[in-house]
Amino acid sequence: MRGDLVCVHRVVAGQTRYVIKDPLRMTYHDYGDEEFFILQSLDGQRTGDVIASEFQARYGRALDGLHFKHAIEAFVRDNLVRMFAPGQGSLLFKNKKRPLTLAVQSIVRNPVVIKFSGLDLSRAFNALAPFTKWMVSPFTLVAIAWLVLSSAMLLLFNFSEFQQRLPLATEFFAVRNVMWMMLALGCTKVLHELGHALTCIHFGAECHRVGVMLLVFTPCLYCDVSDAWMLANKWKRIAIASAGILTELALASICTFLWWYSEPGFLNSLCLNVAFICGVGTVVFNGNPLLKYDGYYMLSDFLEVSNLWTRSRASLRMNLESLFWGLPKSKLDGMGGRKGLFLLFYAVCSIAYRLVVVVGILFLIVTIMNEFKLFQLAVGFSVFVLVGSFVLPALVSIKRIARLVKQQRITVFRFGVVSLALITLATGILAIPFPFSVSATAFTEMRDSERIYVSTAGVLVDSCEEGDKIVVGQRIAKLSNLELQVEREVVLGRLRQGESRLRSLTALRSLNPDFSNRIPTERENVQGLQDRFVQVEEKLRKLDLVATRDGVFVAPRTMKKKVSNQYELAYWDGRPSEQKNQNARLEKGTLFGFVGDPCWHKGFALIQQSAVDLVKPGQSVTFQLGGAPHRKIAGEVIKVSPLENVEMSQDIRDLLASRFAYDLQMNNFEFGKMYLANIQLEKSGEPILNFESAAARIKVAPQSLGSRLLRYLNRTFVSLSD
Ligand SMILES: [Zn+2]
Repeated sequence: MRGDLVCVHRVVAGQTRYVIKDPLRMTYHDYGDEEFFILQSLDGQRTGDVIASEFQARYGRALDGLHFKHAIEAFVRDNLVRMFAPGQGSLLFKNKKRPLTLAVQSIVRNPVVIKFSGLDLSRAFNALAPFTKWMVSPFTLVAIAWLVLSSAMLLLFNFSEFQQRLPLATEFFAVRNVMWMMLALGCTKVLHELGHALTCIHFGAECHRVGVMLLVFTPCLYCDVSDAWMLANKWKRIAIASAGILTELALASICTFLWWYSEPGFLNSLCLNVAFICGVGTVVFNGNPLLKYDGYYMLSDFLEVSNLWTRSRASLRMNLESLFWGLPKSKLDGMGGRKGLFLLFYAVCSIAYRLVVVVGILFLIVTIMNEFKLFQLAVGFSVFVLVGSFVLPALVSIKRIARLVKQQRITVFRFGVVSLALITLATGILAIPFPFSVSATAFTEMRDSERIYVSTAGVLVDSCEEGDKIVVGQRIAKLSNLELQVEREVVLGRLRQGESRLRSLTALRSLNPDFSNRIPTERENVQGLQDRFVQVEEKLRKLDLVATRDGVFVAPRTMKKKVSNQYELAYWDGRPSEQKNQNARLEKGTLFGFVGDPCWHKGFALIQQSAVDLVKPGQSVTFQLGGAPHRKIAGEVIKVSPLENVEMSQDIRDLLASRFAYDLQMNNFEFGKMYLANIQLEKSGEPILNFESAAARIKVAPQSLGSRLLRYLNRTFVSLSD
């Protein structure tokens, strides 16, 4: 046993444990009473027989040879012993290469957190500690709890406003904001680590090293507080582990308040980012005991299970091996009974959770990098991470199985049967068809409705209202146009003049041959003026917007506010028929509204190319209306055609371009690659706005998990090759 090791005795779950600190490597190891006894006996003098007899004397039972061998192997692995036997040099040399290999391995396994070794700042921290003593107190704990509670209340009681004030996901994860987010992450992590360090010193342990790490590629600080392992009281260790979380929760609450009560701007968006990073970071990562961060250490300290992570995985492996290969379950302490079950449960949960988190982060990274047109790079990175997180461990398992086969601990026959059974089971699960539906962005349009356009520009004088019953020939709106009225009078005056001139010329043509020569010109002039007058009259007549069918008047969806320039007055805003738009000028071609049955619509759904082969005429559809989420209308697919081949009016074209721009952009849709499904909708009980947006669910033929997986891979591959 090395003489420089620091050993601390503590009682965990009624058992004596020893924590051994290696001050050279700054590593900590946890051993039981018996192992520690053996370690202490390794003084280079005692032989194996002497140790065995001393063990017998102390514990009243014989030292098991295998147990002894395993213990020695563990001490060598942990570098707790120096050996004088020949051949140690090459072993040490082999060990010497390990730190770099370990570092590379750790980067491959988790490129989201990359640590660099740092400085010893224990003096600076020790100097700082007296001034921050008040921070580590029950009072602070209560204050933080109060802050968190009140900020949660603030958001809960104003939930709908809160939702409205949140930026869209596309804005929030846009490149510009990601920079802010990284800054927020860097700053909060510095405070987080300071929280750990100062609490650690407060309770008398040391904080040796402060280093820089790359957390999601953001440089920030980390403090090595593993010296907390030397503390005997578990509550002190839990306090140290929780200090980071508490710091972040306090920051999140304060920033929530600042964000809520500040005007949009620099402070506002920084606060939102800090609140998001701290709040979500704590729940999803740091405080979550299913990942190996602060929450995990708190849990394992609280349950007094050391090496929860490794042991839970060992338990899972042991159970799987016993299940598949019939290997005997080992009798390691804590692997059986309720504790064993807990370990198994923890292993399954943490592996599943890690998978979800890793895939989620990768999805986010791919989305963000895609904006930079770095899609291939993002996919490469994802493959790298997935290989590190899941393929390498799988390879280790395969190697282990190969070794077990080689050692003849599993028979080839059993291996074959189990593999076959597993493959059959997996294929079976992949082949079972499950009900499947295709989601699509959709909108409705009134059936056989008449569009009412303004055909002569004018000022709105009178209009019927939304929902008014209309019969054929009824006036829907009246516009007036002063210029046209003036023009009508002018043209009429000149026409009267021309006519009287023509009459005089005709009456007097026998007196002067010159008069009869002027008659054709004058007649042409009168004819021109008459045509002009008819045109103006027609235009004036069209100032009245008249229905050509029976039905109900429906206003178009709210339009963009028309910007009025300084030379023209009173442009309309909102819907043209609204009361406030009286006396506003409506230009020619403005859509004034529709006449039709507002309860009877037809539907359109935008289908992605990847799903178009699933959508067939006759399938049932449910429309969930955007304006009234609780309202659903059933329907049926009539036909599906490529979007570019669909004859559509200009307003549907505009609608697609404006309202679905978000979806089109988000999913890398291109117009040419989209399909439009025409859908026959059932009559609705209540009126629906024209061109109401909806979410459509088309019930397609059941799909097996396997075909869904293939479909997904195919889609990814197609978007990759673009
Ligand atoms: Zn922490």
